[in-house]
Order: sequence, then structure tokens, then C-alpha cells
Amino acid sequence: MSTLAGFSDWNTQFNELEIPISISSDTLLSECYYLISNGGRISLELGIKLFNHSNLSGILALGNLIKKSRYGNYVYFNENLHVNTTNICILACRFCAFRKGPRHSEAYSLNVKDYIKQIMPYSDRIDEIHSVGGLHPEWKIEHYEELYRESKKKYPNIMIKSLTAVEIKHIANRSGLSIQNTLIRLSDAGLDSLPGGGAEILVDTVRNRICRGKESSEEYLNIHKIAHNLGISTNCTMLFGTVETLDERAIHLDKLRKLQDETNGFQCFVPYPFLPDKSRLPEAQLATLNEILRVIAISRIMLDNIPHIKAYRMNLGSQTASLALLVGADDLDGTVSHEEIMQEAGSNARLDTDSDELSRLIESIDSIPIKRNTLYTEFSRFQRKLSDDSRRLPIAQQA
Ligand code: SF4
Repeated sequence: MSTLAGFSDWNTQFNELEIPISISSDTLLSECYYLISNGGRISLELGIKLFNHSNLSGILALGNLIKKSRYGNYVYFNENLHVNTTNICILACRFCAFRKGPRHSEAYSLNVKDYIKQIMPYSDRIDEIHSVGGLHPEWKIEHYEELYRESKKKYPNIMIKSLTAVEIKHIANRSGLSIQNTLIRLSDAGLDSLPGGGAEILVDTVRNRICRGKESSEEYLNIHKIAHNLGISTNCTMLFGTVETLDERAIHLDKLRKLQDETNGFQCFVPYPFLPDKSRLPEAQLATLNEILRVIAISRIMLDNIPHIKAYRMNLGSQTASLALLVGADDLDGTVSHEEIMQEAGSNARLDTDSDELSRLIESIDSIPIKRNTLYTEFSRFQRKLSDDSRRLPIAQQA
């Protein structure tokens, strides 16, 4: 049965869709197709084969077939605002363009008043604050409790999705608390969910090269597990295109779905490529469009138990994000309005994209925009305000 949340029995739907020839004519993809069709799982070994397989169009078609079976033509988005609490960080991950040392001329830390001030201009049109930042050397849990309490007092209808696993670990250490008690206190103060950033690649040899000092793979998964067991939903991410191998990308996906088998607390998976420059990780190379689309499609194929795959527009840009929606992604990162981490890393994704524009982007690929809340529990079909005239191509100016 189909609702705005998608098909309740997507496997049945999967079996009713026509098999594209790019799949049926390919031995590996036919094997994957029949496994999925019979309710089976793509093993880690098969996942590794997919990352190394030459038939990209077949892989993309399979990703799209699964997306269509789950959500038909629906594409989800929300109206959110990114607020970065501080760019001061005690770590120095090699890929990070955002962090600053405490004495840097551009270093900043938002106090509660500044934090509320950033939300104020957008408060009547957003339903989520996405809030992450560096590991501040002085802030303890009381600072975050105050941020969330005051935000909820002023904007009770705006949900707070905040803090990556390493921020939780840092706050717990600074405050002399267990991870569990840290999460309980933050949740009591108003934290609604965790965004999932910082997973990078969940293989410690890779982490030691790109983000030494950050939480280990096991710690990342354990912090999310504790959150899930407390009833706090989280997202999970993958930063690819640094120094990992293709096999390690598949291992990353396999680790996430194993935890999801246990807890069922991940709502959404957000893969995004590293945006290199000459100073950070010079050994990395900008992922090609083919590579990005392959990752999106294989994520959809392997992550059979994580409901949503997000096209992270802030990193991919609108054009690539709209292609990602045709190969497995079903969710588009929201209106955002303000964002620093990807912009500092070199992204030129537009920040001034309102709901009407997002819905035009979704409609441009023959899909239907569905507005959702942070927790994916409320859905409504989005109707644009703009007239049909806005869909016409601009007429070239006459000389
Ligand atoms: S990625 Fe996060 S933890 Fe690492 S340096 Fe940047 S702000 Fe700090």
C-alpha cells in the first residue's frame, strides 16, 4: 500500500516493475536483482564486486528500481537552517577546511544570544535546525543544554538535529559524564536527533590517515547505538574520495547496516565526496560524477534496512543532486539558508534555495516533492506558489 511515506511493502512493488535490459543482460546484476527480488541481501562480497563492476548504467538502474519500489516518484525534503556553533576545534582532521585555532582571526563561538539571533530571520519558515561545530576546548554540556533550552523556549515547533558522534564524545569527556548520560541530558534539554556527520570511512587505518584523534569506527557506531537505544534517531554519513579503497567503501556500508539490524535507529544515509584543494589531503582526487552516482546507487542497493538515502545538495550542488535522485536517492537536503562547512571546503552550492525552488528541482526530474519533518513521521505534498510561467525557458535577449 502506498502513502506519502512510500510503499509499505516495497519488495512486492520491486517484483512488479519491469527489469531494465542493462540489468537482465548482466550476470552480476541479474544475481543481485534475483537476490533482492527474493528478499535476500547483497553480501559484502557482492557489494565489493559492484564497486568494481564496469556496467555502471546497470548499477544505476538497479539503484533507481529500488528507489522507485520504495517511494515511487516521491522525493522528500524539509525546510531547515544550518547553524554552526563554533569553528574552533581541538582536532585538525586533514580534510577539514572549517576548523580554526582559538587565536585565528576568523575563529568564532556563538553564545546563546548569537545562536538565537541566527535562527530568528528564518524562524517562520523552517522546521529544523541542523547544528554542528568544532570541538570547543572550553564548552561543557551546560553550554549545549542552554542552547537547546532557549531555542525550544523561543521556537517550540522547530526540531533540533545537532551534534556529531565526536562532539558527543568530546562533551562527555569535558563534562565527566558517560555517553549515555550526556545524551539523556541533551535530549531532556531539547535535542531531537543526531545528524550523523563524522563517520568518514569506518575503517580505522583510513581514519588514522585522515582524522587521527577523532573517534574510532567502533566508538562512532557505539555512540549511535546508545542514541538509538535511548530512542534518539540518527542519520549516518560517508565521506568518500579521500584515501580509502573501493573495498573499504563497501565495508563502511556493511558496518552501518549491521548496526541498523540491531537498533533500527538510522533514518537516513548521507554519502558525499571529499572536495579537495591543494593544501588538504593532496593525495586525494575529486570524485568524478560517475563515481558519485555509483556510490549513491550502491548505497541504495546495499543498505536494505536504512529507509532513506540523501542527495546532499550542499556538497553535490543542485545539478548532481538531481541526478542522484534518479539513481537511488529519495531525499534532498533542505532549504539550508546558511552553511559553512561545505562552503569553506570549496562547494559553491546555492544557499538561497527556497522550498519553491527545491520543488521545481524535484519536478524537473518528473518527481513529486513531499515535505517531511526531521523525524520522517509527518509528510505533506508540497504545492509551489509560482505560476507555470516560471517553467518556461528564458527567452534570449534581442540585440
Ligand atoms: S572535521 Fe570536525 S573534528 Fe575534525 S577538525 Fe574539522 S571540526 Fe574538528
